[in-house]
Amino acid sequence: MKKRRRRRGNQQGQPYTITKALTHIRLDEANTGKLTALDELAQVYLALTQQYVSLFCTTELPNKLRDPLCQTPLSERWHRVAIMQAAGIAKSWRSNRAVAYQQYQDEKARYQKQQANGTVAAKAKEPRWREWNVPILREPCIQANVNVVKLEESQDSTYDYWLSISTLEKGHPIAVPVKLSAYHKEALTDPKTHEVKKLNSSVQLKKRDGVWWLTLSYDEEVTIQTVPDAPVVGIDVGIANFVTTSTGKHYGAFHKDLRARHKRDRARRRRKAKLRACLKKKGVKKLPSTSSRTGQRLIRHVKHEINHAVNQCFADPEHEGVQFAYEQLSVASMRFKARAQNAYLRASNLGHIPQQIIWKSQKRGVQATPVISAYSSQECSVCHYTDRKNRPNQQTFCCQVCGLEAHADHNASVNISRRVGDKALCACRDRTAIKAVLMKRHEAWKQQQGMGNSSPMKRRRRGKSSPAASPT
Ligand SMILES: [Zn+2]
Repeated sequence: MKKRRRRRGNQQGQPYTITKALTHIRLDEANTGKLTALDELAQVYLALTQQYVSLFCTTELPNKLRDPLCQTPLSERWHRVAIMQAAGIAKSWRSNRAVAYQQYQDEKARYQKQQANGTVAAKAKEPRWREWNVPILREPCIQANVNVVKLEESQDSTYDYWLSISTLEKGHPIAVPVKLSAYHKEALTDPKTHEVKKLNSSVQLKKRDGVWWLTLSYDEEVTIQTVPDAPVVGIDVGIANFVTTSTGKHYGAFHKDLRARHKRDRARRRRKAKLRACLKKKGVKKLPSTSSRTGQRLIRHVKHEINHAVNQCFADPEHEGVQFAYEQLSVASMRFKARAQNAYLRASNLGHIPQQIIWKSQKRGVQATPVISAYSSQECSVCHYTDRKNRPNQQTFCCQVCGLEAHADHNASVNISRRVGDKALCACRDRTAIKAVLMKRHEAWKQQQGMGNSSPMKRRRRGKSSPAASPT
């Protein structure tokens, strides 16, 4: 069960609608003739969608109402569906690229400032921008509406629904039977009223590893359960532990088994790249593909593990009646946190954790608030002293002033839990300002402890390592 699209209100007791998906409905392979017609349609559809994706990513802004431009044997209605899907793909590609480009510019500005001050670390390299490739659609995925694919309830008892799909042959739609599993039926049935929920008319058809899969969706109304002054539990997101809470618990990890699989996949990709280079030298035209099926499977697996971890966190009896706070991760901080992984799995996976937190909280009607993540892993949760030296290594937090020793992720999650509604931090324009606020709090703590100005901390050496390397 996955998310598709969501809306939310944010006051307690207020209902909002979320759209849930019924995934992994396998299309019956007994109908080979029909599925062949679907395959033929999908190939043409994929090529057409690709043309518009390229157009919308390069020369034009995405516009789902754009007049048809390309020649195609597809019907006008299918043509429109392709344009709409391409516009959606291009829109998210453009916005992801814009975020990355902004990040690059920020990093460059920071680098240039350091260069001017003479504080660039010896190992630091000037940030470089590598232009993104236009997305290439590899496997058929059709986001269809009622104009081209109709979902009808089955009248006889053997199947649950019929999908009536219009094909390349005009006036000859194919009718593909759909059978739901007990698991899907249970999800569709309201546990209280035993009524069967109404399915939305848009469907998704996707071919993966030679099998056609159908995704259906339905709307559900959720009410926010969290009371306004519910205690806040902070969530720190990471790789060693996917989720660490301020209640001191860890959920999910990029553990040994995943690491080993990841290593094998990397080695396989490297061998493949070598082979490609070798063949290319010899003038071979048709080179083996670089996309790795095992790599894709691994990404799916990691995402599954993340979903499970976030679920456990929300379902933990200790977290009943609480609200959550989580880090608003920037691309740069993700990159930093994900150093242990390779580029291939990096940002996509870490970004999946906050996405899941948002989705799970909406599904359960639990308040979850994104907070500023800057310095959450360097700030001491007792005295607010903020310094990279508080982190002798990845797992350990050891405060240079008050001596607090803690698991680094736990310390960070406590900081995160306190940042909900922190107006002083929200008013900060950049990281320097945030650090100044935190250090002011540290001074206040010292006063309170009667430590006055007799600072026991050692003077910090400057310019030893680049601040850009540690954004949180
Ligand atoms: Zn401290």
